[in-house]
Order: sequence, then structure tokens, then C-alpha cells
Amino acid sequence: MEFDINSIVRENVKRLKPYSTARDDFKGRASLYLDANENPLAMEHGRYPDPKQHDLKEALATLKQLNPGQVIPGNGSDEIIDLLIRAFCEPGIDNIIVPQPTYGMYKVYADINRVEARLPLLTASFDIDIQAIYDCVDGNSKIIFLCSPNNPSGNLLDQNKTTSLLQSFHGLVVVDEAYIDFANSDGFLPLINRFPNLVVLQTFSKAWGLAALRLGIGYGSWDVVQILDKIKPPYNINSLTQQKAMDAIDDREGILEWARILVSEREKLEKALEDFPFVQKVYPSQANFLLVKLTDARACYQFLLNKGIIVRDRSSTALCGHCLRISIGSPEGNKVLIQALKEYQNTYR
Ligand SMILES: *Cc1c(COP(=O)(O)O)cnc(C)c1O
Repeated sequence: MEFDINSIVRENVKRLKPYSTARDDFKGRASLYLDANENPLAMEHGRYPDPKQHDLKEALATLKQLNPGQVIPGNGSDEIIDLLIRAFCEPGIDNIIVPQPTYGMYKVYADINRVEARLPLLTASFDIDIQAIYDCVDGNSKIIFLCSPNNPSGNLLDQNKTTSLLQSFHGLVVVDEAYIDFANSDGFLPLINRFPNLVVLQTFSKAWGLAALRLGIGYGSWDVVQILDKIKPPYNINSLTQQKAMDAIDDREGILEWARILVSEREKLEKALEDFPFVQKVYPSQANFLLVKLTDARACYQFLLNKGIIVRDRSSTALCGHCLRISIGSPEGNKVLIQALKEYQNTYR
């Protein structure tokens, strides 16, 4: 199917004249800035951040071997999810497809924007079910949200099935790769130049260890990025975040080392969990968490909570009955968890 961005973008967005910031008409360095009502007495943080995030986009583009025009930073990848829905989905008319179970924010942003979220199921092994998706798709379906590795199940989605959706769907296919740095896969960025309707989301919040900064990135075709750029808040990425993210990119060896440590911790924790009699299944994970099926998820959750250990109870989520989602902690944290589970096992006998 030929992808035509003009056929899916909202009319008001097409017509929108974006806010032009004080810095838009002037490029380069001035000797005196009297254009933005900033406080000239402030020593630092007194000036607005670069609304175009020029240097950050360059750094990210180089890191991912893309063009800066294919990069849109967001105030967390959550902001990109919201921008996508607001740019392409007409409230009360259009819909998005969100195969379940997955990350909750796609539906939340759809609900906030009064856009219908259709929720087909993934397969029992949490992979794409093309038929179930197409049973939900109609002419007003604008975006399919996929997550790979998927939260809360931890698995990568099948590359061929995703490609087949990219080829056959008339709208956007968003692949959220918040956990890709823990996965044994290049993910979908290598396909960005082949599919103009592909958007890949990544984030500095997980492997990069910068959740507090709030920085997520959308990667996509120039056409899509330009639309999102047009509707984003002008100063959505603050200066400190832009700078710290560039520092992290310079130190990416350190981040890769963190990811290696957490993956090895994941493998250890997986083995340890499988030995407990009350653990029925540990789902294979390519992320920094494990979905674990227990004989009594609620009781185990409560026991851990009473010990001050918080995990995520996913037992009322589709296909996740009796499951807890456990983030991989530090080596010490994981020992504390295993010790607590041994105590739980004694109460359970
Ligand atoms: C944690 C998470 C995010 C959040 O990203 P931010 O960049 O912190 O907004 C996005 N997607 C998934 C699937 C996540 O698990």
C-alpha cells in the first residue's frame, strides 16, 4: 500500500500556523538578546532552551545513523505518543489499534484525546496476531501501537509480521522500543528509510538511566517528523536535559556496560525464580524485567509489599492472569528479592 501522509493528518494540523518563537527569525549568535523577555541578570538557566534541539538531534542522528530530520525528541517518549495521536486522530471519529497486553499509555492518551482505542489481543505467546488486528481496522484507523520488547511480557515482536503490517496498513505503525538496549536485536530503526509509515520510539528512561530528565525520542520519515515538530510545545526539552543527554551519548560505552550487567542479572534472576515451587512460569524476556506466573500472585505481591519490596501486579491484565512483573534490580537488590521469596516459600508450605 502506498503511504500518503496527507490522507492521515488531521485537517486542523495541516492548516496550523505553528507558534514562532523569538529565536525562529534569527540564526547565529547575537551580541544582545532582547527578544524573549528573559531575565538578563540570571547567571545560568536564564535563557530559553533551543526549541529546535539542533545539537541534540545531530548527536542522536549520528548515534543512530539517521538524518537529523528523522529525529523528534520528546518530554519522555510519552509526549511523542500524545503528539502522534493529536496530529493524526480526529477526536470522536478516528481510532488507534493497541494489541493487548501492552504499555498502558497509548490507550490513556487516546482516552484523553477522545480517540477510540481498539484492543485486539496478542497471541498466547504475546506476538502479533495479524488477523485479530485487521478485524479491528477500518478506514478511520490511523495508528497501530506495538511495543518491542513488549511491556509487560518482555518478548520481541516478530519482525516479519511487523513488516507485513507496515506494508499493508494505510496508517502509521509505531514500534515502541523503550527496552531495545536490553534486547538481542537491532530493532526496527534499520527499516526507517524503507517504510515512511514506521515510527520508532526510544527513551533515555530505561537502559540509559536518565528517567528523571524526561527524554524520549521518535524516529520516523521526514514527513511524519515534520508534522510532529509543527505541533510540539516550543520549549519541550529543557536545556539541562539536552546537555545531559549529549553527555550520556558521549559516554555510551558506560551505558552499554550497564545494560550488559542488567541482562546478566536478568538471566540469574530468571534461573533463581524458576526454582521456586510457587513459580509456574518465567516468560522469556529481552527487557529489564521479568513477567512471572505464580500460583498466587496476589499473596506473593502482598508478602513482598509488607517487606517493603514493590513489584508490579499484572494479574488483572489481559493474558497475564496470576502474573507479577518484576524489574531487574541491582545485584544487591536482586539478592534481597530472592531472600524475601525464600521467606515467602516458608510461609507458603
Ligand atoms: C517506560 C516506558 C515508556 C516511558 O518512556 P518515557 O520516555 O519515560 O516517557 C515508554 N514506553 C514503554 C513501553 C515503557 O515501558
